[in-house]
Amino acid sequence: MLDIKEWKWEKVRPKDKSEHTLSCPYCNVKVRAVSDIRIFDADTGAIKYHIYKCPECYMPITIGLDGRVIPTSQFLPFEDIPYLPARIEKMYCECRKCFSNDCFYSVIMVARTMIMHVAADLGAASNLRFIEYINYLENQGYISRHSRTWVDKIRTLGNQYIHELDEATKQEAELAIVFIMHLLIDVYKLPEMAK
Ligand SMILES: [Zn+2]
Repeated sequence: MLDIKEWKWEKVRPKDKSEHTLSCPYCNVKVRAVSDIRIFDADTGAIKYHIYKCPECYMPITIGLDGRVIPTSQFLPFEDIPYLPARIEKMYCECRKCFSNDCFYSVIMVARTMIMHVAADLGAASNLRFIEYINYLENQGYISRHSRTWVDKIRTLGNQYIHELDEATKQEAELAIVFIMHLLIDVYKLPEMAK
């Protein structure tokens, strides 16, 4: 039988109120939020969650024992980039969502796929190998010799994870997404702005 534990909500006495400095997941403002409500296990009395109120937008923010803020930020990390083709924009958005949800392996894989789509959008033939798409972008001047080392890092990372199932790190995912962000700005945003 399912063991249902009763959790209770209670208003906290003023002297027991806890405070937490965080970036509000709803309004993105860095705030000092105060919690005067907590949720505890009715059997053991153990505190499970504190409910904070954002002083800027008044939305409820929950923090559990592990310190994780619930919900995660409703704002996507990294820059919004205008003038993207619809399909590319969708993938870039997916990449950013994966990052904010700690799905770092997916970030790297979507970023790699995007590099191929961008190259194809710029005239590369279809069915090339990943490295050939990169060569195409470099030969056409879309990526500089300077950032070639960066792309090669993304390439080897992706290859590594295809062959051995290992956890991708946040730093690696950041490397991939920052590269793709700069590529998209160079290829789509800057030429439109110069018009
Ligand atoms: Zn807020």
